[in-house]
Amino acid sequence: MAEETIFTKIINGTIPSKIIYHDELVSAFADINPKAEHHILIVTNKPIPSVAEVTKDDEPALGRLFTVARKIAEDLNVNESGYRLIVNVGKDGGQEVPHIHMHLLAGGKLGGLGFPDKK
Ligand code: 5GP
Repeated sequence: MAEETIFTKIINGTIPSKIIYHDELVSAFADINPKAEHHILIVTNKPIPSVAEVTKDDEPALGRLFTVARKIAEDLNVNESGYRLIVNVGKDGGQEVPHIHMHLLAGGKLGGLGFPDKK
């Protein structure tokens, strides 16, 4: 069996973390090293290593990342003011954890492309 990713351990509760959203396809929790006032990771429950390996079967989970991003943005009261979604892919894309995840960054005006400096 493939080694569990750190995100699988968080989703399963092996690593304690406050899960802010969970359903049958995706889960969300705060990034351990926040780059903005709000920095949430929305991850597929299935440990797909990266966008480079997605298949058509993954479309329901990948679509769910967006609808859950909208829900979390509404909960944070930033759905109208705006926020940023980032998906890093592979080494050159700066992906550290090989388990598909979307970064949701919010809280005031964000800087240019890439991660803004933490305020
Ligand atoms: P990537 O660079 O792969 O797109 O982003 C990985 C993110 O996972 C980083 O922003 C990093 O801070 C976050 N991260 C790494 N390990 C942990 C962890 O154990 N718990 C949480 N909550 N976030 C983590």
